[in-house]
This record gives sequence, C-alpha cells and structure tokens, in this order.
Amino acid sequence: MGIKLDLEPLALCGDCMSRPIIIAGPCSAETEDQVLKTARELSSRGIRIYRAGIWKPRTRPNAFEGVGTEGLKWLQMVSKETGMLTTTEVANAKHVEDCLKHGIDILWIGARTSANPFAVQEIADSLKGVDIPVMIKNPVNPDLELWIGAFERINNAGIKKLVAIHRGFSAYDKSLFRNEPQWQVPIELRRRIPELKIITDPSHICGNRHMLYDVSQKAMDLNFDGLIIETHITPDEAWSDAKQQITPQVLKELLSRLIFREEGDLNATINLAELREQIDKLDDKLIQIFEKRMKVVEEIGKHKKENNITILQSQRWDDIVRNRINLGSRKGLSEDFILKVFQAIHQESINHQTVVMNSSEETVK
Ligand code: PEP
Ligand code: MN
Repeated sequence: MGIKLDLEPLALCGDCMSRPIIIAGPCSAETEDQVLKTARELSSRGIRIYRAGIWKPRTRPNAFEGVGTEGLKWLQMVSKETGMLTTTEVANAKHVEDCLKHGIDILWIGARTSANPFAVQEIADSLKGVDIPVMIKNPVNPDLELWIGAFERINNAGIKKLVAIHRGFSAYDKSLFRNEPQWQVPIELRRRIPELKIITDPSHICGNRHMLYDVSQKAMDLNFDGLIIETHITPDEAWSDAKQQITPQVLKELLSRLIFREEGDLNATINLAELREQIDKLDDKLIQIFEKRMKVVEEIGKHKKENNITILQSQRWDDIVRNRINLGSRKGLSEDFILKVFQAIHQESINHQTVVMNSSEETVK
C-alpha cells in the first residue's frame, strides 16, 4: 500500500457526502433556463449536489466549448434557489479564480487535465490557502501513478477534501463503452489509498443511456462511494453528450432500482474460511504450475541460445493463443480473460528466456 494523503471528511451538507454520494446535472450549462429547470427537477427528487460544465474540453475544435464565466452566475442561482451544492470543471488557474469568486462549492479536474501534470500543478498553486473539495477524474490513459500524482499535487497545496472520479479510459478500438471502465484501476487506487472516496461516472464510461444502470450497479457492488450522472431536462436536445444524458425522472427511476449492498461481514453469513482456504490452495497450485512452466521455458531458452534462434516464435505463439482460447471457452472462460492471462504468461516466459540468452554461462555443446 503506502500512499498517505492528508485527508479530511467531506462533511459538506448533512448526509449528502455519505454513501452513496449522488451528483447529477447536465454535461454543459447551456442557458439560464436549462440550468435552473434541470436543477429544480433534480432538487425536488432529492438530489443535493449539482454538476454542470462551464468550460468544456472538447476532443475536436468547432464543437460547443461551454458558455464560460457567465454560466457561473446560473450555478449561483441554483445554489440560492434550491440549496444544492454546485460543482464544475476547472482546467486552469483562471477557472479556479472565477469559481471561487462565484461561490462554487466543489471543483473537479477533468480527465484531459489530470493527464497533464503542468496543468494540475497550476491548479494546485492557485488553490494554496483555499479550503474547497476537489474531485479528480482519472486521466484519459490508464496510468494509476499519474492519477495518484494529481492527488498528491492538490493535497500538497493544502486541499484535504479529495474525491476520485472513475470515468473510464480511452481506447483506440471502439468497444461497447465510450471509455473502457478497466475496473482494476480504481480497485487498485482503493487498495493504495483506502481512505479516499471514489465515485463512478457511468455517463462518460457508457456514452449511451442504456448501459447506465448496469455500470452504476457494478460501481456500487465494488463498494465505491457514489455516482455522478449527466442529467438534462431535454437530453436529446443537449448541446454536448446528448446520447448519454437522461432526464431527472429517469435518473430517479435508475437510482430507485439500484441495490446498495454493504461490504459487511461475509464470515457471518457463509462458511467463508473454508471457501477461502480452497482459493488459497488453488492459488498455491497455480503458482507451482507457473514455476514448473518457467523451468521448461528456460530449458527451451537454452536450446534457442545454442542454435541462435529468436526468442519469439510467432507461429507457435499464434497457435498457443488460438488453442488456449478454444480450451478456455469450453470451460466457460471468456476469450478476453484467457488472452490476458496468456499474454502475461508469455511475457514472463520471454523475460525468463531473455535472462538465459544474456547469461554468460557456457552453453552445453
Ligand atoms: C464532463 O464531465 O463533462 C467531462 C468533460 O468529462 P471527462 O473529463 O470525464 O471527459
Ligand atoms: Mn459530458
């Protein structure tokens, strides 16, 4: 484990920061009317924290880039009229300054910004001496160290109320998701900084409406602390991210269907010790098998060295992948899983053979 941030509880308003923390509001503030109507509908359904992007980082130019500072006044009106806390994205020191002037309650750093240490440091410097909660989205690339580095920079500036937002990671290959969730990254973040709250952003993970529920339930089943979900009074007419936004009514229905399980004490419910012992034994066997496999791999490595043959044998590797995927599918194991496991095993084998190749030991003639 090891990373220690200097954190403080997020007691901002009654229980709105206890699990599940729910944040909702439009991708972008568009007009005063849209911001206020959406806020009223959310507030009447019990939502206490309102999000809206004012400066929008867009992948390509010529898209709607946000209404700018003017929109901050609309968020002030939301806070005055409904009592909701407001949050918006900041990407530089000027954004921070404008938000502080307009009484924004919580800031968030977007995925494109958290990938850039210069920008994060600029924001950190502008926050010195300020007491405001900051949420940091994962960087667009699945680099946990970079994400943790952003927390450290903001924390070193004296910000103690920090939240992580898991919004998924870009990939070249388009899949079901707009941004791959890669759940193992926030899971590892939790292991490294257990006291840090993590909320999930199903809207930017899914990029559509129909998968929002499943991703939200999964986040809750991983014991994450909350959800930030894009919500608009007329989603189809939204100026940005129209496909993934939902109405306040649909949000309410989605939340009411979610099951909020607790980490709880499994020991009390099943004979966990026995099952865990079985898992431990199986893992032990797996490691022994890996050890045996690597011994055989090293033996082959010696022959490759003696005969000046490359470590990588493409045809053999291709055969292994196809054969193992086939075997796995007969045992109910997904192609994705088998591919990842064998890629890792293959990489370890290459590493072992590289050591053999580079060893100065005389080869047997
Ligand atoms: C957003 O929340 O509207 C946004 C721009 O998200 P991200 O930084 O995750 O792309
Ligand atoms: Mn958006």
